[in-house]
Amino acid sequence: MSSCEYAPYNRRMRLLRVIAAWLAVAMVSGAPLDAQDGLRLRVRDGLIQPGDVVRLDVTAPPAVTFVSAQWHDQTFPLERNPAGTWQALLGIDVDAPIGASELRVTGRRAAGDPLERAFPVEIAAKQVRTRRIRVNPKFVNPPKTELARIKKETEELAAIFRSPSSGRLWKDGAVRPVEGVAVSGFGVRSVLNGEPRGPHTGLDLAAGTGTPVHAPTPGVVVAARPFYFSGNTVILDHGQGLYSTMAHLSVIDVTEGQQVAQGTLLGKVGATGRVTGPHLHWAVRLHGARVDPLSLLDVLNAAR
Ligand SMILES: [Zn+2]
Repeated sequence: MSSCEYAPYNRRMRLLRVIAAWLAVAMVSGAPLDAQDGLRLRVRDGLIQPGDVVRLDVTAPPAVTFVSAQWHDQTFPLERNPAGTWQALLGIDVDAPIGASELRVTGRRAAGDPLERAFPVEIAAKQVRTRRIRVNPKFVNPPKTELARIKKETEELAAIFRSPSSGRLWKDGAVRPVEGVAVSGFGVRSVLNGEPRGPHTGLDLAAGTGTPVHAPTPGVVVAARPFYFSGNTVILDHGQGLYSTMAHLSVIDVTEGQQVAQGTLLGKVGATGRVTGPHLHWAVRLHGARVDPLSLLDVLNAAR
């Protein structure tokens, strides 16, 4: 995979800043200044679009002990890998603003001010198609008797995706949860029974009722129960802000709190909740952003 480096400040300005910083340090303490005073960011080449997962690689001076990134309303830490670079996955929400934006990277040191740098990130528009489907009317305009349940579940789900995720459990080389054909892609706009709805925030994989559903990458089960819209649902916390939701299951085979390895049986494909027929709806959240599961697979399976 090719990659590029962002160097947002011109070299002369950087040199002047380095000289000024060196003079300041030399005047105060006489201590030598680490020549590698900067943070460098590496991301892949190519367009970045709504729904994408982007791997961040940050190189920081050895004195840095903690690195975090901030993009729009996401703030998250990076983890140092054995090679000494700092890594995390950035999620571009399905409704992320199109155009120029800024990723701020901060590196903290035991002594001295934190290092901070802003890197430009350009989000390109993505063309998506519209699908027109018919579902049971109770899922388009739910009956009043179900509104309290739906409100409670919406709050529960928001709390799950807001809660601090565990340390990194996901690993490179992720697998598809079922070997089905993608019948409805991520980001597709839906018109349900003639009424426009928001974008499709998951990937629908066609598979018959009873087909085993496996964990795409390791995690902890944080929900394993029925929800009004998604039917029998399993949610995995893969760590570092990454969550998978498996919806519309006929059977759930795991319990909340259970640790799962890659490939663990989570349940079986079904047609519970708001569906037109049996399939697996796989949705992925990354630091709250709704991202395309296929983009996650691409990133976790890319040769490094
Ligand atoms: Zn779906």
